[in-house]
Amino acid sequence: MAKRSSRKLYDGWCKKCQSVRKFRVVGWNEEAELAWLRCSGCHSTFAFEIDRLKPDGTIADPPPEEFQEDQNATAEIVDYDPRNTYTLGQRIRHPVFQDVGRVIAVEKNGRSGKIVVDFENVGQKVLVEGRSLR
Ligand SMILES: [Zn+2]
Repeated sequence: MAKRSSRKLYDGWCKKCQSVRKFRVVGWNEEAELAWLRCSGCHSTFAFEIDRLKPDGTIADPPPEEFQEDQNATAEIVDYDPRNTYTLGQRIRHPVFQDVGRVIAVEKNGRSGKIVVDFENVGQKVLVEGRSLR
């Protein structure tokens, strides 16, 4: 662990949780200028450029290129269910439309939210996500 890091916890956007989470430093490579931080929400470990770890305990936003890599990483198609949550670039199969589309926008509103999906045949549709059934 390098001297430059006195902090163990940072607040940052988790692209998997699609929300701001606490991240704990689990690895540090000064030469590669990378730090590995684990999300407290999904327990996934992500590599961050050390430059992005701010002294005030926040993680700076990633450069926009990372979004493209995300899209390639989420090639798997999942069935749409309003109780689930989805991420930008994710591919979804809708059981009613019988169509496959890609998430092009995510709007959070508390625990639930809306996603905009660009379907191959029926075009863009707004769907709900994260709806809890009580
Ligand atoms: Zn997470």
